[in-house]
Amino acid sequence: MITRYPTKKIYVGDVAVGGDAPISTQSMTYSNTYDVDATVEQIKRLHFAGCDIVRVAVPDMEDALALKAIKERIDLPLVADIHYNYKLALIAAESVDCIRFNPGNIGEKSRIKEIVKACQQRDIPIRIGVNAGSLEKEFENKYGQTAEGMVASAEYNIKYLEDLGFTDIKISLKASDVERTVSAYRLLRPKNNYPFHLGVTEAGTLFHATVKSSIGLGTLLMEGIGDTMRVSITGELEEEINVARAILKDSGAMPDGLNIISCPTCGRIEADLVTAVAEIERRTAHIKTPLNVSVMGCVVNAIGEAAHADVAIAYGKGKGLVMVKGEVIANLDEHELVDKFVYEVEKMAELTK
Ligand code: SF4
Repeated sequence: MITRYPTKKIYVGDVAVGGDAPISTQSMTYSNTYDVDATVEQIKRLHFAGCDIVRVAVPDMEDALALKAIKERIDLPLVADIHYNYKLALIAAESVDCIRFNPGNIGEKSRIKEIVKACQQRDIPIRIGVNAGSLEKEFENKYGQTAEGMVASAEYNIKYLEDLGFTDIKISLKASDVERTVSAYRLLRPKNNYPFHLGVTEAGTLFHATVKSSIGLGTLLMEGIGDTMRVSITGELEEEINVARAILKDSGAMPDGLNIISCPTCGRIEADLVTAVAEIERRTAHIKTPLNVSVMGCVVNAIGEAAHADVAIAYGKGKGLVMVKGEVIANLDEHELVDKFVYEVEKMAELTK
């Protein structure tokens, strides 16, 4: 059982972050933000995939000016991502639900004061988004691009915002490797109660990003650290959300849908298990009720796994058993098993909603 670190609850639009709010998933569009149609289309794809909060890059004034039109056409909370030019944050704050700025490249602190004033006027939160690769010079010179440097930057900026009377804050401490990322979040966690946005940045392609994020974010989530998260993938939008949701589910941070236990297959296999499990995964992807199910290739471990599963298949030679809560309810030919299994899973999901 994971005990989450008690954090302050803030709101990004209508999505609560921190406190007892569910851990939300985030992603970013890759269209030119000034291309309103393309950006809205990508945000809608993310929304459909289950994303809770979306962020868009705001590199230029035309991007900042497009935010109002984007916001009017979407139903997800919108975060503006600001680097270098604080004036873009002032324009963005008129339309979006949160401003993320990188303290390492905004420049003079008086500029942050202007951003805070704009956010206070609209009552929207700020994410202090610290990146190991772009720390303020003073912290980089003192600590290098280390977890300690990231934490020093975050603490400095938190204090700066607090001194201005601003506490609707969330924090991210991202590095491109797991060790620094995890260390930074662990170091900062006991020092304040602001919600944390988790992420390993620039994590690479789907395969590598999945591994890095599973280790890094999974470790933190299992320690009760993390209130919202982004899995950063050089790939397609939906992949970020799918991986994020899987990490939340498999770390135990947020039960969601089926936990499918399937064997790796071996020389005892007597069925086409790979095809069967792929079909089951596809046909049950819509189920949000947390259920344990098992699909095993022969009787060696099938009965043992089925005893703990809500619904199970134990394959045999050309035939197999469907079991519910450890009881055999059907003995069918191989081609009938998946249909019966999916039927029983859908029935149980409906009953236990
Ligand atoms: S359940 Fe059977 S087929 Fe699957 S890995 Fe175990 S022994 Fe092999």
